[in-house]
Amino acid sequence: MPNQSVDLVVAGTIGLDDVTTPFGAVTATLGGSASYAAIAASYFARPGVVSIAGTDWPSEQRRELTERGIDLAGVTVSGQTFRWQGVYEFDMNEATTLRTELNALADFAPTVPSNYREATVLLLANLDPSLQALVARALPQTFKILDTMNFWISSQRAALIEAIRLVDVLVLNEAEARQLCDEVNLVKAARELRSLGPTYVMIKQGEHGALLFGHETCFTAPGYPLEALKDPTGAGDSFAGAVAGFLATQPGRDEPTLRRAVIYGSTLASFCTEAFSVERTIHLTEADIEERYDAFKTLSQF
Ligand code: AMP
Repeated sequence: MPNQSVDLVVAGTIGLDDVTTPFGAVTATLGGSASYAAIAASYFARPGVVSIAGTDWPSEQRRELTERGIDLAGVTVSGQTFRWQGVYEFDMNEATTLRTELNALADFAPTVPSNYREATVLLLANLDPSLQALVARALPQTFKILDTMNFWISSQRAALIEAIRLVDVLVLNEAEARQLCDEVNLVKAARELRSLGPTYVMIKQGEHGALLFGHETCFTAPGYPLEALKDPTGAGDSFAGAVAGFLATQPGRDEPTLRRAVIYGSTLASFCTEAFSVERTIHLTEADIEERYDAFKTLSQF
C-alpha cells in the first residue's frame, strides 16, 4: 500500500538525551530536534520526518511518534543513535551541553520519500546546516522554516548562512542571534538576518517570550508564567514544530497568520517545559492547547 501523503516535512535529529535540571535527571529519553518538533506539529497537521536513528533506537520511542500519526518513512536506520547530554542550572533559559555524540548523524545522507513531495511546509529543525540546505533544495515547493543553535553557529557558520538564504522564516534564540550577527542589539540583529533572505525572523527569549520581526514590524509574544517548570529541553524545537504545523493548516503567510503561529509555538513550548522529555507534549488535547492559546491572549491585553 502506498504511504499516505504528509502536510509538512520535519528534518532534524532523533536522539537519546541525558538531562539534569534542578528538578531531577533522566537518561536515554526520547529527544532530538525532529522528535520534539514533529510531536508539536502533529497537533495541527500530519508531519513526515527526515532523520536518522541507530539500530539501538528503542521501539517504544518509535511508537510514541507513530501513535501521534507521524510518518517515519524518511527515517534511515543505521549505526548508533545521536546522543546529547545537557544540564540546566537555576537559570533554566540555557542548557550547558556536556556531550554531543553525532554517531550515525556524522554520515547521514537524507532521503525524501515520494509521499513527502506534496507537503506545503518544511521545517529544517536543528541539524547540520549543509543537510538542511540539501533537504531545502529537494522540496522547492515548500514554505521553509529553519531553526539552528550555538553548536552549528560555532562549527558551520558559512554553511549555516548559505542554508538561511534558502528559507522564508528563521527561528533562533536571543543568544544565538547575537552570536550569529556579532551584535548585542536584537533589532539590529534581526534586520541583518532578514537581509540574508528570510521574510520573517523569530527570536525566542526562553521564559520571557518571543519576538517576530517582519518588514519594519515587530510583534512581541509574552512568556507564559509557569509554576510547573521542570525541564526546558525541546522547548525551542516544540516552538518551531507548532509554528510549522499551524502554518501547514493556513492558506496565507501574512503577518497576522505568523503572529498566531508564534502564539501556538509559545503554547507548545510552555507545555514542553512542564515535564522531562516528551512526557507532557505527547498527551495533550486540543482543549489544552486552545485554553493556553487563549491565556496568552489574556496575558497581553490592556
Ligand atoms: P532545544 O532544547 O529545543 O534547543 O533542543 C533540545 C534537543 O536538541 C535535545 O533533544 C537534543 O537531543 C537536540 N540537540 C542537541 N544538540 C543538537 C545538535 N547539535 N543538533 C541537533 N539537535 C541537537
